[in-house]
Amino acid sequence: MAIASFIRIAIIRVASFFFFSRRSKVIFYHDIHSDKKYTFQSTSIDLFKKHIQIIRKNGYKIVNKITKEHGEIEICFDDAYLGLYDNIELIKELNIPIHLFVISSFFEKANHINKEQLLLLNKLSQIRISSHTETHQILNKISEKQIISELENSKKFLESFLNKPISSICFPDGQFNKKVLEIAKNIGYNVKYSGLPGFYFDDFLVGVKRRSLVQFAEEKEFKAILKGGDHVLAFWYKFRQYS
Ligand SMILES: [Zn+2]
Repeated sequence: MAIASFIRIAIIRVASFFFFSRRSKVIFYHDIHSDKKYTFQSTSIDLFKKHIQIIRKNGYKIVNKITKEHGEIEICFDDAYLGLYDNIELIKELNIPIHLFVISSFFEKANHINKEQLLLLNKLSQIRISSHTETHQILNKISEKQIISELENSKKFLESFLNKPISSICFPDGQFNKKVLEIAKNIGYNVKYSGLPGFYFDDFLVGVKRRSLVQFAEEKEFKAILKGGDHVLAFWYKFRQYS
């Protein structure tokens, strides 16, 4: 059951009036497209460019990794679809860092970035790569053994393929629970990205970061989300994503 979109947007916009402090926050997308679209979750480059413009106009800096309490935005892309690769010149032109979460067994899969393309992206200082598990299983619906293999295999593969440490992960479909967090910690993921909205330094639990999904947000909704208007819905996301 989803909250009807117009009610959701109204709540977010009203709530945003209570935030003035431009606290740092993470936003996320799935892909961007110009003419060819690889997933229904993709954002048009026109809307994406509009978002970047709004972020900058409101005095935020887009950073690779948030280090300041105020004024910083980190942009994540989940699943590593091909549209990001197709439009990489735009990303370079806009000069924005991207935190890309990769599913480590999806390189041969249609509509996804392949291994060579990942290596090319990895060479760009703008792109930071982290894990989005091995096969995108919903982690709170599988056995402990499967969780370990999803988290461990993906970390091992990316570390040896990219020759760099991988210490961040985001959970498929945003779903997780205590067990998942414990396993992630033991495997060496220091930072866990959720889909629960909130500010960067308000960890949901130790090392669990909050993120706002903005892929279809039109101008007014996006401005309200930047300010934190979607945080009032965190209880709803928690109910759906944390068990
Ligand atoms: Zn995903």
